[in-house]
Amino acid sequence: MRIGIVGLGLIGGSLGLDLRALGHQVYGIARRPDTCVAAVTMGAVDSATSDLASLAPVELVIICTPIAAIAPTVQALVPHLSPETVVTDVGSVKGELVKEAAAHWPWFVGGHPMAGKAEAGLAAAETHLFVNRAYVVTPLETTPAAAIALVQALAQSLRAKVLTCSPADHDLAVAWISHLPVMVSSSLIQACLQEPDETVQVLAQSLASTGFASTSRVGGGNPELGLMMARYNREALLRSLHSYQTQLASITHLIETEQWSQLEATLAASQQARPEFL
Ligand code: NAP
Repeated sequence: MRIGIVGLGLIGGSLGLDLRALGHQVYGIARRPDTCVAAVTMGAVDSATSDLASLAPVELVIICTPIAAIAPTVQALVPHLSPETVVTDVGSVKGELVKEAAAHWPWFVGGHPMAGKAEAGLAAAETHLFVNRAYVVTPLETTPAAAIALVQALAQSLRAKVLTCSPADHDLAVAWISHLPVMVSSSLIQACLQEPDETVQVLAQSLASTGFASTSRVGGGNPELGLMMARYNREALLRSLHSYQTQLASITHLIETEQWSQLEATLAASQQARPEFL
């Protein structure tokens, strides 16, 4: 199949490497000429240019730009697409974006491969990034069945675990397991920095080990990603944050009032729930 990839960074480059290995012909689009050269050199695309018109022959376009550029890119692509060309994206938030993109091009199907790493940019792209990872496909009721099937088959060919749900459900779910943890983990780091006694602060830093490393990891990540989650998934994130605040207030109350058996029951319920949740 002829496949276009717009935005040759971590996700776009990684998709290109795998799709070429599967025998597809990959047409790349990047803003900067040096990214085009680098993408061809590392084998992420067969050819690359900054001209969207070069995507006229492709049957599928995957938009891998930052979220803010996805819907405008779909709009800019429209004059160059053949009828029934399927367009998908990889954006980490779906709701309004999918509606806007589908209004420009009805053969648009939202997608979110839930794979990534701390580094960004084409140099961080790697093969098999999506193997055994969830790949969420988020069609609207109006999305043509053939377009949905094509994106699901694409995700399956990457050996990802394909899930299909509405854009709204996707956003509510990722607010719980991805966006809330970033804000909680960031708050944990900020709270630790409030220790007024410098000796204690330094001691705490020297004592911090694997437990603190795992609970602070996502809060110490790329601030652009956290900002994007808050801006584009604001309502769902606030809903999760408010629920989290209620839980934290409840645990605080149990400790203040020395309700140890209740606290133990809460912690035991979490211990029991975790394996199943994961
Ligand atoms: P990235 O490594 O920074 O790559 C983004 C690419 O988009 C860069 O090559 C950049 O090109 C290009 N770009 C930036 N602004 C653009 C614009 N206005 N028009 C066209 N191209 C533009 O980011 P990424 O991690 O691959 O993320 C890309 C998308 O994947 C985002 O929508 C994100 O939500 C989604 N996603 C990310 C992860 C993750 O963990 N990283 C996971 C799943 C999904 P230049 O080189 O010219 O700057």
